[in-house]
Formats: sequence, structure tokens, C-alpha cells
Amino acid sequence: PVYLDHNATTPLAPEAREAMLRWLGEDFGNAASAHSFGRRARAAIDLARQQVAEAVNAHPTEIVFTSGATEANNLILKGFAATQTPSVLAISGIEHPSVSEPARQLARAGWKLRTVAVDREGRVDPDDYARALSESPRLVSVMSANNETGVLQDIPALAAQARSAGALFHTDAVQALGRIEVDFRASGVGAMSLSSHKIGGPLGAGALIVDKRVELAPLLAGGGQERGLRSGTENLAAIAGFGMACARAVRDRGRFAQVANLRDRLEQELRARGAVVFGEGAPRLPNTVFFAVKGVAGEALVSRLDREGFAVASGSACASAAPEASATLLAMGVETGLAHCAVRVSLGTDNTFDEVARFLQALARSLGELKGLVAQAA
Ligand code: PMP
Repeated sequence: PVYLDHNATTPLAPEAREAMLRWLGEDFGNAASAHSFGRRARAAIDLARQQVAEAVNAHPTEIVFTSGATEANNLILKGFAATQTPSVLAISGIEHPSVSEPARQLARAGWKLRTVAVDREGRVDPDDYARALSESPRLVSVMSANNETGVLQDIPALAAQARSAGALFHTDAVQALGRIEVDFRASGVGAMSLSSHKIGGPLGAGALIVDKRVELAPLLAGGGQERGLRSGTENLAAIAGFGMACARAVRDRGRFAQVANLRDRLEQELRARGAVVFGEGAPRLPNTVFFAVKGVAGEALVSRLDREGFAVASGSACASAAPEASATLLAMGVETGLAHCAVRVSLGTDNTFDEVARFLQALARSLGELKGLVAQAA
């Protein structure tokens, strides 16, 4: 089968696997130990920290390794809130559940949750953003790239405005990392979340990059690892693999120009078949196409394509257990019926022109069949 679902997760890169194998095989250690085993473990974590820092232009001491971006997002929201008296928290209306759910938890604990509107293309609405900032939020969180549409936000501009309003600005950069330039320092954000498994690293690793002036309470208290912000003996293999995946992502950044070509070819054909491409007028990730063919249910198209040997997603994988329409599309003002037809193709650097061509043929067959069913039912 051909894998076209890289926004859900990516295959493990050979270099990342290699870096991990050492810690699953001949070597082991607790990085807190004073002996040679501990020193080797510590050195491996230091190397990974350096590799992650270099990938996003941060200082190694600003990196807190976590179990993934879900934990990083929870750490910044809840860890920051725990140091404040409840006031206003602002997030965009299209955040991943690992931001919006902790935000809702904080709302139940006395915070005022301000959700900032997006326009029809999925970009943060500048007027509503300004209005939200005028309510003096302590924390603002806006994702760099949306996991479903691939739509990008102007993070440096949003961060500068939030800073002027006295807020801490956080961005979930999970989908941006490795696909477009991500620069912690230059973007002016106070905190940023990353995930390993979206860039060819292993599942179960990620990081919160956070300015050291930001006061945070840990979610997990204990032995004081990760500057006291994330206790627990470090998951060496996962962290080493994450570090190596970052190093590879930096090296391979150029390959996304080719991915954009494939994406353009795909979109051209989709439009010719009457598909709507969501967020098409906005700057987007080079690898993501979120589209709908009116009258053809997304779920049905995804399972039909799966039988043809192509792995794509309807809505986001994270929410696919729930048969609701994409919250991102609803926030963009897309009508519910059309939102239920949404299908996401997310390419990786290993996908080929030939795979995309074969996918388009399979899509044509699938649409022909499913539209036939719709016609019969009508
Ligand atoms: N944020 C975004 C934008 C994502 O796409 C994902 C992965 N679905 C996450 C956060 C959660 O990352 P993780 O799987 O590392 O917890």
C-alpha cells in the first residue's frame, strides 16, 4: 500500500532507527547515574538536545523533552496557568485537541477561555485577534500549521502583537517542523511544542521549547529531570531517535520543494474533478491537501481508497474515532454537509510522482463508484 497520511504519523527514518538501536541493544543507562553507564546516557541526551535546538534555532537549555506534543501542549497551558491567578486565556478556533482540551479544563477551573475566530481560509482573523488581545490574556496559543488543512499562520506577527499585549505566546509547531522553516528565536515566541513522530522520529517523544524566563509548574513531579519540569528517567531510545530525526529533517528540508510539486499536481487534478480544496487561498504546508467532493462521504472514500491500496485520512486521525465533522472546517465556516466529505492527503518526502499518478486513477475509480451509489439512492 502507498502511505499518504504523513500528518498522522511518518515512517521511522533509518538514521533515527539506528540511533535508537544502541539503547535497545548493547547499551543502557540512567542519565542521572554518576558512573560510565550514566555518563553515556547523559551524553546521548545532550546530543539529542543539541540536534533539536539546531533544528529550530533555540538554545539547548530551552528544550524540555516530553512524551510528545500532547504532553508539551498540556505542560505549557496547565504548567503556566498553575503559576497564575486565573484570568484570560486565548487560543485559535482551530487548535489541535491537545491544546483545546486542556484549555477547556482551565476554563472549568476558573479561567476565561477566549477562542479567536479564523476566516474562510482558516487564517486567524486579525480583527478578532486584536479584540481578544484587548481582553489582556496572560497566555495566547496559535498553531503554526494546521494538521488538517496545512494552513499556516503568520506566527512572528501574532507573537509580536501578543507580546505587546503582555501575554506569553505559545505555538504548536508540530506540523511545521521539518516541512517549513521553524525558528524559535526569530519568530519571537515564548514557547513552542514539537513532536518526534511527525518528522521520521519514533512515537512517544517530543519537546516543549520554552524561554527560561517563563515560570512553569511541572505536570509530573519527582526526581527533577529536565530542569525539574518533567521528572522521570529519560526515555533514551526515543529521545536519541527524535534528535537524529531533527538532524535529518534539517538536512532534507530542500526535498519539500519536490513534495510541493506533487501536491500541486494532485490539486490540479482534484479541481478538474470538481473537488473543493480547503484553505486553497492561504499559505499552506507543501505536503497537505484537504479536499471534498460534494455528495461523497469522506469516510466512504477513505475506506474505498484503502481497498485500492492508498492510505489517506478523513478529518484528522486523532479525532477519527468520533464521526463528527472536522472542527477546523466548521470553524472556517464550511457547511456541515460538505465538511463530512473531507479527505486529507498528506505527502512525505519518499512519495513519488508515479504514486500520485496511481492515486489519481484510484480516486477516479472510487469517485465513479461512490457517485453512482449516490445517484442510485437519490
Ligand atoms: N499538535 C498537532 C498539530 C498535531 O497534529 C498532533 C498529532 N496529531 C499533536 C499536537 C499531538 O502530538 P503527539 O502525537 O506527539 O502527542
